[in-house]
Amino acid sequence: MIKEVSDLGKTNRDGKTDNEWIHDALKEEPISMEIVITKDGSYKEFKPFEKKMTIAEAITAKKGKARLLLDKVEEVLCYGGEGSKRKHELFLEKLTKYQDLCELTPVLAFYHENKVNGVEKALKEFEAAVPDEKNRKGNIAFRIFGEGIRIHEEPEVLRRIISEYEAVQKELLANTEKKCSICGKSDYPVEDIPHGMIKKVPGGQARDRALVSYNENAFESYELEGNNNSSICTNCARTYVEGLNWLLKEGNEIILQNKKGKEKKAFRYAHRKNFGSDTAMVYWTRKNAKLSEIDQLEAPNPDDVARLIESVATGTARDSRHLETDQFYSCTLSGSAARIAVRDWIETSLYDFRRSVAQWFKDIAIVEYDADLKRSKTHYARLYDLARSCQRKNSDGSYDKDDTSLARVATYLWNAALKNTSLPLWMLTKVLQRARLDQYGVTVDRAALIKLILNRHSKGGEFMITEKIEQGLRPVAYVCGQIFAKLESIQYAALGDRNSGIRERYFTYAMTSPASAFGRLFNLNSKHFTKLKNEKPGLAITLDKELRALCKDVDINSFPATFLLEEQGQFAFGYYHQKQAQFSGTKSKETKEEV
Ligand SMILES: [Zn+2]
Repeated sequence: MIKEVSDLGKTNRDGKTDNEWIHDALKEEPISMEIVITKDGSYKEFKPFEKKMTIAEAITAKKGKARLLLDKVEEVLCYGGEGSKRKHELFLEKLTKYQDLCELTPVLAFYHENKVNGVEKALKEFEAAVPDEKNRKGNIAFRIFGEGIRIHEEPEVLRRIISEYEAVQKELLANTEKKCSICGKSDYPVEDIPHGMIKKVPGGQARDRALVSYNENAFESYELEGNNNSSICTNCARTYVEGLNWLLKEGNEIILQNKKGKEKKAFRYAHRKNFGSDTAMVYWTRKNAKLSEIDQLEAPNPDDVARLIESVATGTARDSRHLETDQFYSCTLSGSAARIAVRDWIETSLYDFRRSVAQWFKDIAIVEYDADLKRSKTHYARLYDLARSCQRKNSDGSYDKDDTSLARVATYLWNAALKNTSLPLWMLTKVLQRARLDQYGVTVDRAALIKLILNRHSKGGEFMITEKIEQGLRPVAYVCGQIFAKLESIQYAALGDRNSGIRERYFTYAMTSPASAFGRLFNLNSKHFTKLKNEKPGLAITLDKELRALCKDVDINSFPATFLLEEQGQFAFGYYHQKQAQFSGTKSKETKEEV
């Protein structure tokens, strides 16, 4: 994985033309202010401005180091008491190292020969001249009065930084024979120093974390164990850090409209999705291909999904050759304390990626009755909603934020969508549990998830659930679910809306222990039926006929004593299908009568 992220870091992602200053020795750094001095080193003024980027000496692991001519106020002016003394010394030592550069002469005068008019005066005026706290915390650079370019950006200065860097690298290389485990070369030395920090991985308090750390026990990823002792050259270390940071932050601002038409700004990541409070997935392809399929997973549009399925089904050999040469990558990252856990790593050809996403939509497709349109339609659940359908809820109906399984479920679903893998059965336990405890029962998203789990589990061998209600030969558990739905509608017809109907009271019982549960349910039903026959004889006869038709498909006198987990899934599904069919059935009858 580190190799692919490092390769990404090595590519020219932003389309910038190559220039001399793209070098390991240099890095883009933020800058918030300039100290303007004269050629003789006298302080002239501070110029604070909105933070921007500048090219400067690259420093990995800043602690105990100072950057040439661009650093914080502690380093530059010894501002901030005792603690800044050592920092300031480091800054001056760095200047001394480069003192033979004539570009530095005014700065050296500012610190030494012209001290009273230089550094001391600047320190005195700092607080008054820079009232804004934000600027005070930023990086400061030097500029000569009347000149446009900052001293640290002078070509001679940059060239010298590069040559210093290369000299150090050469020496390090001479002392080591080690080959880099990522690029397999020994062009750059392998150093036992911390790699750069990865920013913006969610979870916990820390903001910046290391992915690879030589700290003992610090590397806790099941996928990448063994990398603990791996050796990564300085170039690969820099590029994987850059690549990963780019994936985590790249995006653009978009304008969203809420239901009232009010506009709101939001940030849209280009290569990242967040799941839960502590997990993010990043994804990309080697050739930087556009991945509209990922957006489909997030917000499926039935027409686009249909086009995707169609194009995969009819794809020509030429398409596949084109797509096979590009690779799709994704990794799932979670932050905890100071480290990053890699929860999942996916690598597949772009061709297989598209086929998997198409298969995903086929597997989660499910019929749903749309009350507004007054007809049934195919529902494609958002991946996030599928994960949510397993999440615990609080007593007030809101989602329980402490239920950490959300990210875990989402990680499996993401893998299932992109690699066409099957899902663990504990997820079925979870979604059935939610369907039993939640007031909305077997929702369309839960049904879609159950279908996905069951069908991928049976791999086409046994009973496969389709989008619409099943006809003909079907498992006993599925028919029991249908019967249960029918019994529920008879109760509803007889007694109206009840706070605690048979679903609330018997659903779990019937799904797990059908023999004893249905004994009781049929007894209860004969009472409901008698009441209904007196009040609405026509409806009573129709419903009873439908119930009998379902009962013909099973031996109602010998229901199994228990249903196993997968059968419980089939039960829930039979129930869901039957309900949807009843919705559309009764509604279409109603519409006919209206006409
Ligand atoms: Zn390398």
